Amino acid sequence: MTDAPAPLSLPTTDDAAGWETWLADRCDGCLDQARGLVDRLKDGSHEPAEAMAIWNDLNLALHDAFAVASLMANVHPAEAVRDRGERAEQDAHKLLTEIGLDRDLYDALAAVDPERLDDAGRRVHALSIRDFHRAGVDQPDDVRARIRELAERETAVAQEFAKNIRNDQRSVQVEPAVLEGLPADFVESHQPGDDGLVTITTEYPDYLPFATFCRDRASRAALMEQFLNRAWPVNEALLHELLGLRREQARLLGYDGYPSYDAEVKMIGKGSAIPEFIDRISEVSTAAARRDIDVLLARLQQDHPDVESVNNVDKLFYQEVLRRERYDVDAQQVRPYFAFEKVRAGLLDVTGRLFDVEYVEVTDAPSWHADVTTYDVVRQGERIGRIHLDLHPRAGKYNHAAQFTLTSGIKDRQLAEGVLVCNFSRNLMEHDHVVTLFHEFGHLVHHVLAGDHEWARFSGVATEWDFVEAPSQMLEEWAWDADILQSFGTNADGEPIPRELVDKMRAAKDFGKGLYAATQMFYAALSYRLHQDVPDDITATQRELQERYDVFSYVPDTHFFASFGHLEGYGSGYYTYMWSLVIAKDLFSAFDRDHMFDTAVAHRYRDRVLAPGGSKDAADLVEDFLGRPYNFDAFEDWLNSAPGAS
Ligand SMILES: [Zn+2]
Repeated sequence: MTDAPAPLSLPTTDDAAGWETWLADRCDGCLDQARGLVDRLKDGSHEPAEAMAIWNDLNLALHDAFAVASLMANVHPAEAVRDRGERAEQDAHKLLTEIGLDRDLYDALAAVDPERLDDAGRRVHALSIRDFHRAGVDQPDDVRARIRELAERETAVAQEFAKNIRNDQRSVQVEPAVLEGLPADFVESHQPGDDGLVTITTEYPDYLPFATFCRDRASRAALMEQFLNRAWPVNEALLHELLGLRREQARLLGYDGYPSYDAEVKMIGKGSAIPEFIDRISEVSTAAARRDIDVLLARLQQDHPDVESVNNVDKLFYQEVLRRERYDVDAQQVRPYFAFEKVRAGLLDVTGRLFDVEYVEVTDAPSWHADVTTYDVVRQGERIGRIHLDLHPRAGKYNHAAQFTLTSGIKDRQLAEGVLVCNFSRNLMEHDHVVTLFHEFGHLVHHVLAGDHEWARFSGVATEWDFVEAPSQMLEEWAWDADILQSFGTNADGEPIPRELVDKMRAAKDFGKGLYAATQMFYAALSYRLHQDVPDDITATQRELQERYDVFSYVPDTHFFASFGHLEGYGSGYYTYMWSLVIAKDLFSAFDRDHMFDTAVAHRYRDRVLAPGGSKDAADLVEDFLGRPYNFDAFEDWLNSAPGAS
């Protein structure tokens, strides 16, 4: 019997130089180890099980290098340590690319007879051979050379495309009176210039409040025209090139187009399943979308009787008007119930009960910043993982919300450690942020609970990319339940958040879900069609797809695709968001909405969906849990139920 693995020893110093040395040792050490294992595997005289064990060690060394490099690059307070983390990430990427194109290494692995492995080993072997094939390692030399060229050019073009979106800040000038209706702090920070006019930019901190609250329609239209033309025309040519590169790469590897290449490693499976999914969602959401858009148009026409359709100029503004007029939810009324410390304690209590784990605070655990709180995750007296919560903003820190890996859990060898990196207030939280916290914690708990595999390939959130959001989207449901919220959401006088207030919040959230589905399917169709068809006239394709799928109309003379950053990162896979939401609704259908603490269901979910990590295909995990294949029923019920009823 082996001792349970110990947590990773982090430096006990606050000194940046000490952390830098530790980080360099850890990453360089892992990468050196990986290089040594590559050589060992290539020497070719291994029994199948032994070859796979070396391959597993190699994967683990790479995972460990990537994890700590990426984490430190994003969270360490000292710039020198963050820079060192970025360098280590680049080193790891370089090695990974070398490995992917290493013909001798591939030959050594391909020589392993899968029949002589157990089921898990066979799965790892098959997935690894597939990855090599997708990298092009088994192609003739000239094809491999061209693939490498395409990959390098794609990286450069994609970076340029993203950079143009980031850098193209546009603006409009408006009369100060136009700011009427905007929040006081916005007005305060937007004083007129020497010409007496106020500048409003297309950056989100300006654009979102302005599009939501500005009562002057002409000014909203002026800003929207700028917003929807960001990075145009420069990105149009780049997008043409990017789509061409991806198509050529996919065809060289034997696929009919980029979507087929990309979908092969996703839950959706086939490129042709993407348009089928889009049309299916579009069909089931049409009624809800029409219902919502009619309400929105009627309210718009009260103010502007001549307007015949709703487009982005009016979308956010009238959605907000309706939220206020119909659902009477005021964020100021909600905040006092969500003090940070109580929310964090509540989150741990709720998830601890659901998954039958205890979080034991480790007050003397070393970390990179005093804000970090560390807990051992204990089940039936045994430590199964360690989590670090880094939840407040500071200079130089990653500025969204995400789960990072510190170490991948490996049975009897390495303890699973994960980190939640968020940017919440230290005092009162918006309810939106409470939801975000539950969502991100869903990834963290997945990482820990799937941390008891022998294979690095299966450890943690190692499932298909279009499934990874589903468990987190499902856990959000607990942050919308009145009983759950009342269990920790109490104000300064100790009074729990009123049930009626939670009801109103839910109804307000639900309004517009049909609109959301329609717009999402327009985006998904755009991401798919551009990659599949590689059309000459991108603007015409965008207009055609918007008319077909969206309920909001096209804003004349705009070119949204030029600033659609997901085309770079998600390729043809924008459908992913809605796909995982369909699965999340289906998973949640197994729970009883009136008994959110039903631990029998929660434990089955823990054991059949989360704990298996990547050891099975996501569709099989879902079927193991639900006792049937996934379907669209729960999603359809949600979409078509009245706001607040779901
Ligand atoms: Zn997520």
